[in-house]
Amino acid sequence: MRGVAALIVGGGPAGAAAAIILARAGVGAHLVDRQAGPHDVVCGGFLGWDALAELRALGVDAFALGARPIGRLRLAAGGRQVELALPHRAAGLSRRVLDEALIGLAGEVGAAIMRGRAVRAADAGSRSVRFDDGEEWAADALFLATGKHELRGLSRDLDGRRESPSAGLRAALPADARRSRDLAGMVELHLFDGGYAGLLLQEDGTANLCLSVARERLAGGVTALMTEIMAEAPRLAERMKGEIPAFDAVAGVPYGWRAKATSPGIFRIGDQGAVIASLAGDGIAIALASGGSAAQAYLNGGADAAADWQARMHRRSFRPLAVAEALRHGAAGPFGRGLLMRLLHGMPGLGAQAALLTRISARRTGGRRSGERSAPDPD
Ligand SMILES: Cc1cc2nc3c(=O)[nH]c(=O)nc-3n(C[C@H](O)[C@H](O)[C@H](O)COP(=O)(O)OP(=O)(O)OC[C@H]3O[C@@H](n4cnc5c(N)ncnc54)[C@H](O)[C@@H]3O)c2cc1C
Repeated sequence: MRGVAALIVGGGPAGAAAAIILARAGVGAHLVDRQAGPHDVVCGGFLGWDALAELRALGVDAFALGARPIGRLRLAAGGRQVELALPHRAAGLSRRVLDEALIGLAGEVGAAIMRGRAVRAADAGSRSVRFDDGEEWAADALFLATGKHELRGLSRDLDGRRESPSAGLRAALPADARRSRDLAGMVELHLFDGGYAGLLLQEDGTANLCLSVARERLAGGVTALMTEIMAEAPRLAERMKGEIPAFDAVAGVPYGWRAKATSPGIFRIGDQGAVIASLAGDGIAIALASGGSAAQAYLNGGADAAADWQARMHRRSFRPLAVAEALRHGAAGPFGRGLLMRLLHGMPGLGAQAALLTRISARRTGGRRSGERSAPDPD
């Protein structure tokens, strides 16, 4: 069995951020991702100001990658619409481009990158994994960053969740002059029963359309679901020009879940540590912040630091996840949706406040604040 210092399973934003920090500090960091190359991800592609600041701290300029600036949020529900200024500048960027930049940087700074290779199972006690080709590795520290996917031996403990999980769908709408004009500088959220659709412009001029929907609404298939949703959300149907594009789908997103504990030497980062409702648009920031701070905790305290770090992550993610869950539940039914729209219409400042309360990162805008470390502990 091969032994390495740090093995990172998953090369999304959480795993890549951890690999960058570890490799820069000279730790032998090995990152494995089952995808062989650039790929689309079921994600809205919204980068909040905290995600942008996390990226800057890692040395990634989202705007240099083509990210489209976003300053406003437009919420639509039924026939009503409300528009709000975001508290800070955000951006829209495809995950295909973002993930590729992060994983590329991890390789440049010295992490060993293995793409197109999957980990099949892990053993928490020995901190070892088995790859799809049967090879086994053991690590001093294991960074679990498989996102939505469970890894046998280290699956998230979702027992006790009564609510049926949500499902995510994503499609790219072709570049279109009218859509580009209407969405310039904007993220749009269309609310409907059991979920929402987010829409923003990506670097190549296409629009990223991403939906999160209660899984039972998908029982009749994607076409039936979209036909119903377009009837409920006429402004969304207008944006889609009445056409149903080809969607990628991901099933079972356990919104609101947080890892309460971990095993020695195992850091659960990104969606494997805490899953914020996607409506809040903060999952990428959480992934980056948790990957970076877990790596920093390992550099400071070794593998023994995992338990304390995970407990701090659990505490730190409480407020943003709770606020995002309240918004998600509120927006999912007609009464709460109506109330939300009326409140935001009368008090638009509430929207900015909610956007701030759903952020996990200590970072806000601009560059690093004085005295700030490269990857703050999530405390
Ligand atoms: C519908 C929807 C919309 C969203 N919209 C937004 C948004 O607009 N903004 C935002 O900030 N967040 C959004 N999110 C949340 C965001 O996508 C996630 O929080 C974020 O991707 C988590 O990053 P991660 O690195 O933990 O995992 P992921 O990005 O899921 O990456 C996990 C990686 O692990 C790899 N992997 C998995 N299993 C294995 C294995 N066994 N072996 C090897 N590799 C493996 C995968 O190939 C993948 O590359 C959305 C989520 C959903 C469901």
